[in-house]
Amino acid sequence: MTIRCEIISQDRTVFTGDVDIVVIPGAGGEMGVLPRHAPVLTTLKFGVVKVRVGGKEEVFTVAGGVAEVQPEIVTILADRAENIQEIDVSRAEAAKKRAEEFLAKGIPTDPDRYLVMEAALRRSNLRLDAVRRYRKSDVRIPGSEK
Ligand code: ATP
Repeated sequence: MTIRCEIISQDRTVFTGDVDIVVIPGAGGEMGVLPRHAPVLTTLKFGVVKVRVGGKEEVFTVAGGVAEVQPEIVTILADRAENIQEIDVSRAEAAKKRAEEFLAKGIPTDPDRYLVMEAALRRSNLRLDAVRRYRKSDVRIPGSEK
């Protein structure tokens, strides 16, 4: 028995497929979702979603969002989401550097821009940490639509 999983970000469908288990970074902590799970609605922390199917695992970064669990489907709506195999490390490093240089100047006259750069720094740190921890050398992205 499997459960359908859909990971959708603001700009695309990042993953869709039938899987054995989905592990999500829920507001109350990491949560494993198996087929026939009771309905739950939770916000997501910045973290990783793990999807396992047939002994293989795919890992996705999610920069906040919500997850709706139903017995036959988990729908993850994330502000940003990427399969860790598709993360461009140079881009994340450049984003981190840009944000750090801006934030190092201290509180600016434009507080909105400050918040934007703080959020960009969190996203780039999330991507770089996840690649360091979870990326495997064999690049395989089943179910992903690019
Ligand atoms: P950046 O500051 O590098 O642009 P961002 O988080 O602001 O990062 P957006 O421009 O908002 O990125 O995102 C556009 C698309 O690019 C989204 O689908 C996002 O998931 C993806 N994306 C962002 N950074 C990376 C990355 N380092 N590797 C792969 N995809 C990325």
